[in-house]
Amino acid sequence: GPFKESLAKAEEELQHAKAEIQPAPEQYRCQKCNSTLVYRFGKNGRFLSCTDYPDCKFAATVDREGRPMLVQRVDVQCPEDESPMVLRTGRFGPFLASVNYPETKMVVNLDKKGQIKYPSIPPLETDIPCAKCERTLYLRRGKRGPWLGCSGFPKCRGRGKWADLEDDKQKEMETALAAHETANPQVVIKDLKGEPIEEGTPIDVLMITEEEDQLSIHPDAPPEA
Ligand SMILES: [Zn+2]
Ligand SMILES: [Zn+2]
Repeated sequence: GPFKESLAKAEEELQHAKAEIQPAPEQYRCQKCNSTLVYRFGKNGRFLSCTDYPDCKFAATVDREGRPMLVQRVDVQCPEDESPMVLRTGRFGPFLASVNYPETKMVVNLDKKGQIKYPSIPPLETDIPCAKCERTLYLRRGKRGPWLGCSGFPKCRGRGKWADLEDDKQKEMETALAAHETANPQVVIKDLKGEPIEEGTPIDVLMITEEEDQLSIHPDAPPEA
């Protein structure tokens, strides 16, 4: 009957799921609960997972040889959920992501010298047309005052001349920009103690070494949930 069929199907699926798990070397241990690990297969290929999954959700990406790629923790607090951040490498180079990524999507970018970059506040849309295309201009505050650039950047590199605006228009735009800045306050990047980190701080001085990492956890402390 249909019940037997679905039972057979369920059993087949279970076999399939089991086949997707492979043992990992004994010396690789879960960083959260110290259990042994297994290889599982996800969208992005093989990864290490705690044998206690789903009770323990520890997972680590692996290199071609199946060795765990341990994350580099940094003394930076995620501005979105105050979780610790780790150094990751993406298509455009290194950046900081929350340990709760991908649930927490906030990233902190580094400049070409590997220094902390503060996220810029979104630009203000204006009704001023771009002289080079059909789009309108964005208004941003730069180091030398407000400036206008095409909203189609980088496709269009058109700029507007702030100084050429009528006095009334300048005043109107200034007021709008101030209101926009109040509504979108500049995010301050803080360390794990909550102290502000200055923009331009090299990431090298914010690295947490394994040793420091170990010291921060008392030996008698219960394992992390
Ligand atoms: Zn675990
Ligand atoms: Zn344009």
